[in-house]
Amino acid sequence: MRLRNKPWAVKLVGEHPESVLDRPDPASKIDWSKRFTDISRPLEIEVGSGKGRFITTLAEQHPEKNFVAVELQITAAGIILRTKLEKKLDNLQILCADAANLDSFFSPHSAETIYLNFSDPWPKSRHEKRRLTYKTFLAKYQAILAPHGHLEFKTDNAGLYAYSVLSMNNFGMHFDFVSVDLHHENDEIVTRNIETEYEHKFAAKGNPIYALHADFGV
Ligand code: SAM
Repeated sequence: MRLRNKPWAVKLVGEHPESVLDRPDPASKIDWSKRFTDISRPLEIEVGSGKGRFITTLAEQHPEKNFVAVELQITAAGIILRTKLEKKLDNLQILCADAANLDSFFSPHSAETIYLNFSDPWPKSRHEKRRLTYKTFLAKYQAILAPHGHLEFKTDNAGLYAYSVLSMNNFGMHFDFVSVDLHHENDEIVTRNIETEYEHKFAAKGNPIYALHADFGV
């Protein structure tokens, strides 16, 4: 998803440094305790949040947790910020940055859950390293997740799903939930599911949604 640069979004991000970290230097540590009102709450991170429908809904449903939306594009970060301000989500921070530097931005073992939703599939094999489930990214997730933490992944792309299962398996990860049709699982799973923008669009076309939950073991 490439969004055209929207001047209002760039301006809004510039006006809210307390809510958005705009392309911070990976060499300088982020003090999250200064950005959240209660740093003792569990931390959950979404990588590649897009316009933020998933993470803003989750943050609204769980005021007892802290959330960070990691998003490369400033216009998308501005759209997430607009919702955060409208809904007064004090427990959501936005990190406009490349997930390739995730391990510089978060302390080791500081997060409970990492969400990857409808990540760019990068189907060409020469772009494998850009996939957010490539082994170098998995190593970064492992570094920042708590020992009992886990990864939740959803996609409509069968190729990326198959690749990711193999990549996680080769990395020694354990799966505790897999689905090749998330929207037709039992009622409890379907009701709990929070749809992302992409998920809503693809499910409306009748595409199955693939999902998995995995951890790195202890
Ligand atoms: N998660 C949203 C959804 O399901 O509707 C957006 C999906 S969109 C296909 C992928 C998003 O991931 C884009 O907004 C893109 O800018 C972001 N993204 C891709 N690579 C990234 C990276 N390395 N670091 C941070 N964000 C990234």
